[in-house]
Parts: sequence; C-alpha cells; structure tokens
Amino acid sequence: MTEKNTPGEAANTKRNLLNMLPTEAEQTLRDFAVEHGEKPFRGSQVVRHLWQNPAPGFAEMTDLPVAFRALLEEHFTIPRLALAMRQLSGDGTEKFLFRLDDGEFIETVAIPEGSRLTLCISSQAGCALQCAFCATGAMGFTRNLQMFEIAGQVREMKLLDPPRLVTNIVFMGMGEPLMNWRAVDPALTVLNSPLGLGIGARHITVSTVGVLPGIVALGERPEQFRLALSIHAPNDELRQSLMPINTKYPLASVIEAAKVFDRRVTFEYVMLGGINDAGEHATQLAALARECRAFVNLIPLHPGGAGDFTPSSPEQIHWFARRLRAAGVEVAVRKSRGMDIAAACGQLRVERQRRRPPVSAEDNGNVQVA
Ligand code: SF4
Repeated sequence: MTEKNTPGEAANTKRNLLNMLPTEAEQTLRDFAVEHGEKPFRGSQVVRHLWQNPAPGFAEMTDLPVAFRALLEEHFTIPRLALAMRQLSGDGTEKFLFRLDDGEFIETVAIPEGSRLTLCISSQAGCALQCAFCATGAMGFTRNLQMFEIAGQVREMKLLDPPRLVTNIVFMGMGEPLMNWRAVDPALTVLNSPLGLGIGARHITVSTVGVLPGIVALGERPEQFRLALSIHAPNDELRQSLMPINTKYPLASVIEAAKVFDRRVTFEYVMLGGINDAGEHATQLAALARECRAFVNLIPLHPGGAGDFTPSSPEQIHWFARRLRAAGVEVAVRKSRGMDIAAACGQLRVERQRRRPPVSAEDNGNVQVA
C-alpha cells in the first residue's frame, strides 16, 4: 500500500521533526541516538535546534558529530517555509509571504511596538468563512495548515538575519484558527513550551469568529491562552450580513461561550463607515461587552480588503470609543499599521495568487472543528 505524504513529509519515509510535539521529538531523537550508538543527550541537542535555537538544517547543527548529522539527514526532515516576499512599512510593520511545499501561499505580519514584537500568524491557506470585508475570505479556502506550518512562521523569524525575536502571538492572519483545532492545539503547545518557542500563554491570543467547540476546547487547556472574539456587528441582522458564519454561531451563543470561558475575553470590532459605527451600535455593543466583561478593541478598517466598505473616520472611531467608555466598557482604539504595504489580512496573497471560487465552511470536508 502506498502512503500518501502530506505537505512537509518527504516522498520517502523521513519523519518531519517539526510536526511532532517537542517532548515527542526529544524521545524519538534520544531513542534514535541510542539505536545508532550515540549517547541519548545527542537527541536532546537536536531538539534544541528545532525551536529554541533553530538551525536551518542538520548540516548547521555544528555541535553534533558529522556522521550523526548525516544519519539525521537520512531519517528526518526539518522543513523550512520558503520566503517568497518581504515588505517593510514606514512604521516598522513587516509582512512576509511564505510559499508552502504544495505551492500555497500564506502571510505573516510582524508588528513592533516598543520592546514587543507581535507576530500575526495564519492558520489556514485562505478561509472558508467569507466575511464581507475580508480579502482572505474573498479568495476562498484551500486547506488547513499543519502544526509545523503554523508554528514554523515563528521559527522562520528566528532564522532571519538578523533574527526577529517574537514576544507575542496573535492568530489573526489568514484563516479561522478554531476551524483547524487539530493543528492549532499542538501548535499552541509548541509556541508555549520551554522546549519549543517558550512564549508565555498570556502573550498568545487566539482570535475566532465564535466557533463554539473550539472555544470550549481552548478553555479546557490549562494554560492561560487569551481569546479574542471577532464581533464586528452588535446585532444578529447586521452580523449576518457581514459574517455568514453568524447563521451557525449567532451572537447569543458566542456571548454565552465567552461567559463560560474562565478568562477575560477581548472583542474585536472593525469600524466600517456608515455600517456599524452609529450610536445605536455603540449602545448594543456596550451591552454585549458588559455581559461578559469583555475588553473592546476598535480596529480601523484597512483599505484594500474586500467589498466596497469605507473606513470610519478617526473622529467617528474616537466618538464611538467614548460612547463605549461612558457605558462602562474598557476600550482601546488600535492603530492601523502598515498602511503603505498590503498589510490587511490576505492582501499580499491575493496579489500573488489567482483567486479561487470561495468554498463554504459547510461544503469543505477539510474543515476540522475541535
Ligand atoms: S475575517 Fe477571518 S474568519 Fe472572516 S473571512 Fe477573513 S480570515 Fe476568515
């Protein structure tokens, strides 16, 4: 029987070390070292080169004997994500387009702020959810990313010259992370584990439109990962028109899930001029936020997304924020970053890859929910 290789697995039987949890990779490599007449600690040395102090390939693991490196090469892979494009904005925001083994493109955005470097990572190639204002949604869904392709976006930052040291992660790039929980779940472990990338759980935010089984699964993890809910409209009628997923996960159920999530949640609310930025919307949004003690982030619309939406003016956004504060809600207005590069989610890939007909979440067998 021939075994079908997934992207990142070589056509032979080589095993992808980056698609294993770090503890699993360590055990595998220690056993491998012993089987080949080396001390087990050689296996632990290799693991440190996977995520903590990554090496581009086995050849660069110069603290290992040459013969052992050759053996590793014969049995394992540590696949890179190929950097296809890199754009630097005047405000320091940097956007990366990576090409995957099967020719798919994904985007990653690095946003510096003071001593922090937040990396906005992708969890799917494209997205099935078709939010009306989103460039990624307009291009359709191709496939879920594997664990190593998700965490690998952070690994690639460490392999740049000079390396970029990521302090915070947000799952706000391409895709809906909780529709790919099977890969996002172990990727969170790699991002957080001391044997992996060692980023504190409180510095890792999973952002979702409200995929309930995924929210429950995230809440069941013992680490303090953060949850952001993409609300974008404060009533079902409007949300339905902007986010088709609202049929499956209406606002009331999303709010209910936020209440049972035992940590504080954030609402993400993109400001669409003349659509969701009126006084009545502020009143409705404030009521929802108070119900689950959510912090609200108001996001200026990035030009170049999908649809004919116009951004709310800065004055309107600040007026809206004041209305929320007056209603007792904590709120922040996000800066729009990387305006001079195509930094809205999905824009760079749209420029590079032809659009595909959108696939609905229901129709696509690849979509995995918790
Ligand atoms: S906003 Fe997020 S969930 Fe909606 S289509 Fe874009 S990537 Fe998908």
